[in-house]
Amino acid sequence: MRCKQKDCNRRARTSGLCTTHYRRRRNGQPMDAPIRRYVRHQEGANGNREPVTTKTVGRKRKKPFEAEYALLAELGLRRN
Ligand SMILES: [Zn+2]
Repeated sequence: MRCKQKDCNRRARTSGLCTTHYRRRRNGQPMDAPIRRYVRHQEGANGNREPVTTKTVGRKRKKPFEAEYALLAELGLRRN
């Protein structure tokens, strides 16, 4: 079931509304304001904050402790 708010395609959770619109109705906030997504920001090339896109992040996730394992291999402390 979809949210009954106009132009909202999110999944309904409570009383026919999605979580965002339910919270807005409960708190008396405007229902027709656009829903913003959480966007990560990082420092850009010239010191400004800019949103992180998949181009800057890349889809593939780095392995944990990759730098540390490389350091251990460099020092000859890691068996491969
Ligand atoms: Zn909604």
